[in-house]
Amino acid sequence: MKKNLLEILDERKIFKLVLGLGNQSEESIISNVKIYASAGCDMFDINASEKAIQAVYKGIEQAGKKKEDFLLCLSIGVSGDAHINKAEIIKEKCTKCSACVNVCPQDAIVLLDDGYPFVQKEKCIGCKRCKCKAISFFEKESDFDEALKLAEKYNIDCIEVHLASKKPPYDKLKYLIKRAKTPLSFCLDRKYYSNEKIRKIVEKIKKWIGGSDFIIQADGVPMSGGENNFNSTLQAVAMAHIVEKFGTYVILSGGTNEKTAQLAKMCDVKYNGIGVGSYAREIIKGKDADEAIACAKNLVTKCKE
Ligand code: SF4
Ligand code: SF4
Repeated sequence: MKKNLLEILDERKIFKLVLGLGNQSEESIISNVKIYASAGCDMFDINASEKAIQAVYKGIEQAGKKKEDFLLCLSIGVSGDAHINKAEIIKEKCTKCSACVNVCPQDAIVLLDDGYPFVQKEKCIGCKRCKCKAISFFEKESDFDEALKLAEKYNIDCIEVHLASKKPPYDKLKYLIKRAKTPLSFCLDRKYYSNEKIRKIVEKIKKWIGGSDFIIQADGVPMSGGENNFNSTLQAVAMAHIVEKFGTYVILSGGTNEKTAQLAKMCDVKYNGIGVGSYAREIIKGKDADEAIACAKNLVTKCKE
């Protein structure tokens, strides 16, 4: 029988590939999963949709692996969290400079024949790197009930809720905690919350769950990854240091890279796994399969050291 995620985290550290809460692009999920399934990745973190789940299964199959050998996490977001933002072009203000096309890490913006950019919404992860006076952002809220339904249907290993909102919706959290049959992960970051606020939120969750059998995703600065240095990953490690005292499971994320495990060790911070998004996806871009798998393996190995 497949082990519960928390049992696995008791035994060893895991590597999680973060594919973006808002990312519903079949093409991008399949291509990344295919590489990381061959590189020692343990878990895939995806948008809570049937489409994204099926895309992960396809990627695993294309890698010649079995889906039972991987863990799956469905991500959902609350209003105010950047992860549920989608970009939209305001044509009247656009000068057709194409700068946004070049900065998008998801290749979500394409130029149309008339020279105006167009955002492929299913690919957009709300990172806002394309910020410009001609781009606005709107929220696409996650459906908590749909995530609960899918988790049961596909025997999903974890539901993760992203909480970076000025006012965390505690009622929604209680609703989720009451109904979820799968381990829960709560993604907190240091963009909105002070250390004291983070502690208060974790204490509340602990009370509602009735113990510390849950995961805190210590999301330093969300979607800030891309660089492979200590500075990018510092906030994730600092965040883990704040929450480690609560005895919950901790997964580092947000700005994570090849240096994350090394920095956590240097700071003597305890954690159960590392989730990497932007940096992991970036290093395999444009490479042939063998080269991409070698790069991915190197990252996974360094994160599990
Ligand atoms: S949306 Fe902004 S960045 Fe993109 S082409 Fe138009 S003016 Fe340039
Ligand atoms: S740069 Fe980020 S926010 Fe803008 S379209 Fe691309 S993924 Fe979406």
